[in-house]
Amino acid sequence: MTQEQRRFSTQAVHAGEARPNPYHAVTTPVVQTSTYTFEDTADLIAYKKASVEGERATRGEYGRYGNPTAWAVEQKVAVLEGAADCLLFSSGMNAETTALLSFLSPGDHLILTQDCYRKTRVFCNSLLHRYGVETSYVPMGDYAALEASVRPTTRLIFTEIPTNPYLRVMDLARLAELAHAHSALLFVDSTFATPYNIRPLEHGADLVLHSATKYMGGHNDLLAGVAAGPKELVKTLREVQSMLGGVVDPNCAYLLLRGLKTLGLRMERQNENGLRVAQFLEAHPAIEKVYYPGLPSHPDYEAAVRQLRGFGGVVSFEVKGGMEGVAAFIDALRLPLIGPSLGGVESLVEQPALMSHYELDPEQRKAIGVSDGLVRYAVGVEDAEDLIADLAQALDRVGTLNS
Ligand SMILES: *Cc1c(COP(=O)(O)O)cnc(C)c1O
Repeated sequence: MTQEQRRFSTQAVHAGEARPNPYHAVTTPVVQTSTYTFEDTADLIAYKKASVEGERATRGEYGRYGNPTAWAVEQKVAVLEGAADCLLFSSGMNAETTALLSFLSPGDHLILTQDCYRKTRVFCNSLLHRYGVETSYVPMGDYAALEASVRPTTRLIFTEIPTNPYLRVMDLARLAELAHAHSALLFVDSTFATPYNIRPLEHGADLVLHSATKYMGGHNDLLAGVAAGPKELVKTLREVQSMLGGVVDPNCAYLLLRGLKTLGLRMERQNENGLRVAQFLEAHPAIEKVYYPGLPSHPDYEAAVRQLRGFGGVVSFEVKGGMEGVAAFIDALRLPLIGPSLGGVESLVEQPALMSHYELDPEQRKAIGVSDGLVRYAVGVEDAEDLIADLAQALDRVGTLNS
């Protein structure tokens, strides 16, 4: 069996790890240093010569240019995504903003699919706009609108898979074909899917990005981001990062490396929990509507089944009774903690109208499709039976209030 033939969890455990590690340790050490030293001038010159020739660093110079613990993460994620190279960032937003700043110039045009992470939208409308980059938003699933919004200056198309909070799933090969026909790049934020559920580069994406804070880290205890793709694109990102400085601390890189080893195990469980919770909710009379790409009722069910190995751990749904009904339901839950984020071992629940869109008025929220009755439930790795029993008792409470 060659290294490439190894399956997901074998790669998740072993890829990117040096064999043997220093001191013959099983685990990759936390190399807690800000700077690296050279034997003598000849050693320094040999290092500089290799850097000029574009070889990937195998030793450090200064912490903002890389760290061995972070390199192990980068190599592991590159293998998991089937990418030539990968770069680690201080957060998912840092990966995205660095990627957009790296490949867009004044006068360029960017297309974003509408149902996207709110801060990505805010970044495009404020900072990117100030630097002369225009952004168009197209409705999810509307390929004709996407084609129609392309301009001669369109440089980049950016989408998420699945999206937040409605878990929309677009056909990546079709998006890639459209982008490339217009000499534009396709960037995919695959945070909600992870490489366990889809490898966007295999569908034609040019760069795949993640908030590693979510499933990759997986324990609600770190912030990090990654971007993976061909050598040339990642090299550009690395150069820009060396200026912008959004690198992670070596301890954080270690926690992420540790989290990644169980990514396959956790995704298997979270895919299963997500589906079971979604099926339970869809059958419950107190629920207005469920958005989960693994349900045949979802508008992108077919695209999801065709592209994804599992449908992830986020389930969005509308509870009858509006803002008050949702509040009563959320407050009656005993297992999930109330909080933003997703992808960790602990289940989290939130009301997007309050958590991520509080400063918008009801009309503005409606315009971007966030209703007051909407709940986003991010399942953890608990037992599905317990999560469902907890949901059932909370919905009973709301049912009693409504009647
Ligand atoms: C959380 C998230 C981000 C931002 O990542 P941070 O690590 O919080 O900076 C970007 N995109 C998606 C889809 C996310 O869920």
